[in-house]
Amino acid sequence: MILFLLGVLGCQPHQAPVQALGSGAAHPSGYLVIAHTNDTHAHFSPSRAPWLEAAPDIGGFAAIAGAVEALHVQAGDDHVLYLDGGDVMTGTPLMEFEVRGVRGGAMLDFMETAGLDAWVLGNHEFDIGFDHVSALVGASRVPVLSANLDALDGSGAPGIMGLVDHTIFERDGLKVGVFGLTTASLGRLTASGAAEKLNVRDVIAVAREQVEALASQVDLVVALTHIGVDMDKRLAAEVAGIDLIVGGHSHTPLTEALKVQDTWIVQAGCYARQLGVTEMTVKDGRIVAFEARLQDLLPGSSPVHSASASLQKTWEERIDAHFSVVLGKLEGGDLDRGDHAETALGRWAADTVREAAGTDLGLYNPGGLRADLVEGAVTRGAVYTVFPFGNTIVTFNLRGADLVGLLLRNANSALSGKHPPMQMSGVTAQWRKRSGVAELVAAEVGGSPIEIEATYTMATNSYIAAQWKYNLGFHPVDLNDIGVTVYQAALERVSKAVLTPPKNPRITRID
Ligand SMILES: [Zn+2]
Repeated sequence: MILFLLGVLGCQPHQAPVQALGSGAAHPSGYLVIAHTNDTHAHFSPSRAPWLEAAPDIGGFAAIAGAVEALHVQAGDDHVLYLDGGDVMTGTPLMEFEVRGVRGGAMLDFMETAGLDAWVLGNHEFDIGFDHVSALVGASRVPVLSANLDALDGSGAPGIMGLVDHTIFERDGLKVGVFGLTTASLGRLTASGAAEKLNVRDVIAVAREQVEALASQVDLVVALTHIGVDMDKRLAAEVAGIDLIVGGHSHTPLTEALKVQDTWIVQAGCYARQLGVTEMTVKDGRIVAFEARLQDLLPGSSPVHSASASLQKTWEERIDAHFSVVLGKLEGGDLDRGDHAETALGRWAADTVREAAGTDLGLYNPGGLRADLVEGAVTRGAVYTVFPFGNTIVTFNLRGADLVGLLLRNANSALSGKHPPMQMSGVTAQWRKRSGVAELVAAEVGGSPIEIEATYTMATNSYIAAQWKYNLGFHPVDLNDIGVTVYQAALERVSKAVLTPPKNPRITRID
């Protein structure tokens, strides 16, 4: 599931530009423009900008491409770099299509057509799995950076073929070294288990190595990071020699650049709605003049970039055609998501993973259900909005005692109201409150009482299994990914027969 970290800009004092830069005039030597985006999350089309009056739809890659092209025209091709701070994957139906042999690969088309020079791997690039992110890096025609994702063998080599620690650009005689950093919380943030195939190193230590490797070769050191603005500030405070940090991950719209020690920090919100633009003059290996702005990509504010505009239109039409197809029908009420209770949609989702995997039990987290399914015709798009994450179905074994623990955990969270209860399939239980805590009165699997020593099979989504510590409270044994996404399994159920909301409650409180 997506863990959007909606960042809030801290109360950093306003940092005035070192010296105003006039654009349009003849540029001094050492003049450089860096355009940047981050956390686009496959938002290739315009999307809502709630901070603007009437919340219009803005941005998208046609708009980005137009704005970047305008910078090239103003500053001259030899003065412009365009960098992206990662999390280009996960967030729209574009992810359902394969381009260049990789799901979501159309984003590479969008970014490259817009003139991107390099990007850093974000945590959401790992959502579908290690093979997917490897294919994505392999298919990119511009450098993909990350210096702290090493091979497990301890050699210090990049953990993914084709991934590079840094790259050096030359612009009008200036050498610009750009190194990449990916959040060290990759393992905790990734559902697919892909991070286990990497040695994810501490960003501070790695940044020191990168600065040392680059400093003597370049005029300007840029960290292209996907670690969030708070870590960016730490990086700036603790690592000397970074001139500029172009960040991502916290989705922070930095309308003013931050400055910590000698390092400037910028970040451009999220969802391709804004373009960050920094203009600077570099002299003797230092930034002597700096100005940054965050440009809202309003419709019509940039010249039309015809290649990007037609790419955008092609994909809008393709997605429309794909998702408007009616696959089935829902009768007898909505499959909806209630609050802090067992719900129709929750039961249906737990039934869906159990049936697809053929296990004794099914389990689903309410937070993983992102929309209700409304009575009537069911389109592919409607199912997609319920399960947009691309999580696969996984199975594992658990002992009867673990299942009892899970039922009690669920009942106690219903009592405390802290977490909505896990939605279950294949089990029925009655519980009551005794001395302030939940007590099981009866619990059955497949019509027979739970045996504490018996082993049962359970299906759930890959997110729950990967984050078992928080979600299950016991270690799942013999974990197996069946290679089918929850979304695919749901589509199949919708296509097979008319749906009705499952009415039979599974877990009930009897006092
Ligand atoms: Zn991120």
